[in-house]
Amino acid sequence: MQKGLLHHIEIYVSNLKQTNEFWGWLLKELGYSSFQEWENGHSWKLGDTYIVFVQAEDKFLDPPYHRCRVGLNHLAFHTSSRQQVDEMTRKLTERKVKILYHDKHPFAGGDNHYAVYFEDPDRIKVELVAPECSSTKGCVDS
Ligand SMILES: [Zn+2]
Repeated sequence: MQKGLLHHIEIYVSNLKQTNEFWGWLLKELGYSSFQEWENGHSWKLGDTYIVFVQAEDKFLDPPYHRCRVGLNHLAFHTSSRQQVDEMTRKLTERKVKILYHDKHPFAGGDNHYAVYFEDPDRIKVELVAPECSSTKGCVDS
């Protein structure tokens, strides 16, 4: 095991059912499998890292999450290729998930950063990134 790699991330959510529908689909697309499930939580695992979503208690639902406040801004995941970013963008659009920074997509993160940005049901921002392209002549996926 590589020392220092993320072991797990745990996120409190406002509506676990909605979160499970969204993240269950998304994480399976990225190769994760369902790991642990209990009344107030669900986790998905890939390799040695897992992501846990837990239902927040009612008394902590207000104020709601906002990514511009102190705390988590976004989660970014590797994809296998630019084609996978494109395919996921299409699937997200089919699922009526709004693509962020649409005018700059897929280069909202910079000229050599091929990615799609969107929000989860709590408006946590999510980013899917293609492998970095080192070619000066343009990126060709294998
Ligand atoms: Zn990012």
